[in-house]
Amino acid sequence: MYPQLGDEHELVRKTAREFVERRVAPLARKIDEGEYPRQLLREMGELALIAPYLPPEYGGAGLDFRSMVIGVEEIAKASPALATIAEVQGSMIAYDLFHFASEEIREKWLERVAKGERIVAFALSEPCCGSDAAAIQTSAKREGGEWVLSGTKLWITSGLYADAYIVVARTGPPELRHKSITSFFVERGNCVEVSPIKVMGLHGTGTAEVKLNGCRVGDEAVIGEVNKGFSIVLEDLNNGRTNVGAIGLGAAESAFEEAYDYARRRTAFGKALVEFQALQHYFANLYAQIEAVKNVVYTAAYFKDKGDPAFPLYAQIAKVLGSRLAVDATRIAVQIMGGYGYSADSRVEMLYRDAKATEIYEGANEVLLNVLFKLLEKIG
Ligand SMILES: Cc1cc2nc3c(=O)[nH]c(=O)nc-3n(C[C@H](O)[C@H](O)[C@H](O)COP(=O)(O)OP(=O)(O)OC[C@H]3O[C@@H](n4cnc5c(N)ncnc54)[C@H](O)[C@@H]3O)c2cc1C
Repeated sequence: MYPQLGDEHELVRKTAREFVERRVAPLARKIDEGEYPRQLLREMGELALIAPYLPPEYGGAGLDFRSMVIGVEEIAKASPALATIAEVQGSMIAYDLFHFASEEIREKWLERVAKGERIVAFALSEPCCGSDAAAIQTSAKREGGEWVLSGTKLWITSGLYADAYIVVARTGPPELRHKSITSFFVERGNCVEVSPIKVMGLHGTGTAEVKLNGCRVGDEAVIGEVNKGFSIVLEDLNNGRTNVGAIGLGAAESAFEEAYDYARRRTAFGKALVEFQALQHYFANLYAQIEAVKNVVYTAAYFKDKGDPAFPLYAQIAKVLGSRLAVDATRIAVQIMGGYGYSADSRVEMLYRDAKATEIYEGANEVLLNVLFKLLEKIG
């Protein structure tokens, strides 16, 4: 049905859907109550749903980025929290390990990350700066032939439970901004101190403050090249933003489905809710927007697969439109379902809280619009 997708992608969708129905949907509320889904991540890994684009010897399925996005969309229908953890593992961590890590780190960690056996968090944001990522203060200094990392990271997904972190740090004068930034692979040890952060939604994702108290790593821990880490971070974020678009899409589709089903069963003033034209317009509008965002998200992933230079532009569009749709669709779904929609017995109540984060994480939408505008100016 979608020109960007082939039969193999529909097969991935089928696999993901079966897994969601059998394993994720029954546990989604447990995750929402705060349980980190470690076992489900292992099961996702067994199905190669975390990083399907990787070769099989590294825990992938030899497929592509579109396959990853389809899997994330399906998982998000039941649990945006699980989808969030998985997409960070797949589109940022596994991607970095495969493309930019030293052989030593790649051989030790990549397959286990892709199989969900090990969790690695992506630690960029800090108390000082999230949107202004080039201003980060965590430092990595040379000492006795090693790198010593010190600083505080904030809002880190999986931070509480991670076995290791990709830490983005400053390796030169702050005035150089993005030109003095390097990423490091830091295994969890005594030098890492984590504390949980209570958040509005996406419970169970282990959001944490992560303090690095003089963590020592060797040169093999450098991801890419010293002082050239920022371009890798941007590449990671473009992958991630496409997947956040898919999470927004999944949440919106799920909210639509639950509200539509409810509106056909629930009666008021002697007829089914769905017979009120006001609600029909809600559904018609949401359906149109869901179809539009699907096409944008799949196109972004298609561009990634083809190495098309339009990918960064589409990654921003996918994230901005997908997250906006998620918030709109879940809000409207709660409204259509009335008191039941506001109760924790409905799925939309959780989806509404989860959806809000998609407008903020991996870059606030306003910041993405700045990027989008700059890219537009380049196109001319
Ligand atoms: C649930 C969750 C999970 C997260 N997971 C991770 C993670 O795993 N790793 C990680 O490193 N970070 C993570 N983050 C952090 C996230 O990426 C940042 O919160 C985000 O980039 C915004 O940064 P900030 O919170 O410091 O907001 P600020 O930078 O203080 O910005 C606040 C607001 O100001 C506005 N704003 C800022 N700059 C501009 C501008 N230039 N133009 C217009 N408006 C602007 C935006 O509306 C923005 O929302 C997570 C956040 C959340 C909520």
